[in-house]
Amino acid sequence: MDTEILRIDRDHISDSDIKRAAGVIRSGGLVAFPTETVYGLGGDALNPDSSKKIYAAKGRPSDNPLIVHIYDLGQVEKIAMLDEGSYRIDRVPDKVKALAKKFWPGPLTIILNKKENVPYETTGGLDTVAIRMPSDPIAAAFIREAGYIAAPSANISGRPSPTKVTHVIEDMTGRIDMIIDGGDVDIGLESTILDLTDKAPVILRPGAITDRDISEVIGKTGYDPGLKGGENAAPKAPGMKYRHYAPKGELVIVRGDGERVRDYINARIQEDKHELIKTGVICPDEHVLNYRASVVKCTGKLGDEEAVAHRLYSILREFDSEEVQMIYSEAFDDEGIGSAVMNRLLKAAGHRVVDANDKEE
Ligand code: AMP
Ligand code: MG
Repeated sequence: MDTEILRIDRDHISDSDIKRAAGVIRSGGLVAFPTETVYGLGGDALNPDSSKKIYAAKGRPSDNPLIVHIYDLGQVEKIAMLDEGSYRIDRVPDKVKALAKKFWPGPLTIILNKKENVPYETTGGLDTVAIRMPSDPIAAAFIREAGYIAAPSANISGRPSPTKVTHVIEDMTGRIDMIIDGGDVDIGLESTILDLTDKAPVILRPGAITDRDISEVIGKTGYDPGLKGGENAAPKAPGMKYRHYAPKGELVIVRGDGERVRDYINARIQEDKHELIKTGVICPDEHVLNYRASVVKCTGKLGDEEAVAHRLYSILREFDSEEVQMIYSEAFDDEGIGSAVMNRLLKAAGHRVVDANDKEE
């Protein structure tokens, strides 16, 4: 299949380009498009064949549901049941309204019970549907024209999510009809997923919007205990159980006091070099000269976790193309978006963490 690349300038969005891209969706095709979180791989959310095509293009297990993207709050009641059990479709519940007022459009996905018109092919067989309203202007214009767009991240399953159009081109050329090139994304990590289908609201995937942000709007909201990892962990979001974001090389996170971390990583690099293993380090700009690895990747200024979020997936892909075999990452602060950064980094590392303070040098 030929994949057309359509460049759209987010400051001067061309109506006719948006119409053309939306036409592809309406005729059952797939279009990758930028959002503020990561690039999405879009298809018509209400067309089961489109959703099947998305799974095929990504090589994604079909029990891993897709997020439905909307542009207007009024669309929620068309695809979600708004009161458990009773079919009250006349208004969006206050909780969803309050969250939407504060966070939509933006990086928050809300899970509600689905209506019949949402095919099981889109929800991975679940009776619930995940809904998000993106803020990226290209995404918003595109969804407005196309209707309801089901979109997971536009990467091959198991690779880091795409934050640049080059990542999408790398993974999706020949697999989908069109790629909208809207430049680099803003945030760089996927949305926060909030489940509202149980009595207590629970976050199934951390993102730029934190438990504290959500608690301020709808009261106490915690994280799914299954996110912690370990053998008995069973995350509630089907996608969180898969080993995502894994670089080809082995990745270890090293935490502890600054000098201890530096000395531990350098000692390991020294050993690796004897074995002719190509090494890499992930660290803040200020620490770049501390390490003697083959490749050192900087995440931005020390303490700027938003900058880490923005660069992380790109760095993991760069390590792959440079064929780095052993990667050491400094641990980042767990506050704010840092909790999402550490969640993705821990998954990429298969939860391998070393505490340098425990090590004798
Ligand atoms: P992606 O779009 O690639 O970031 O993947 C979507 C994520 O949303 C996956 O982790 C899914 O498991 C999760 N998700 C989507 N719909 C639901 C749902 N109805 N219930 C729980 N998790 C969901
Ligand atoms: Mg994904």
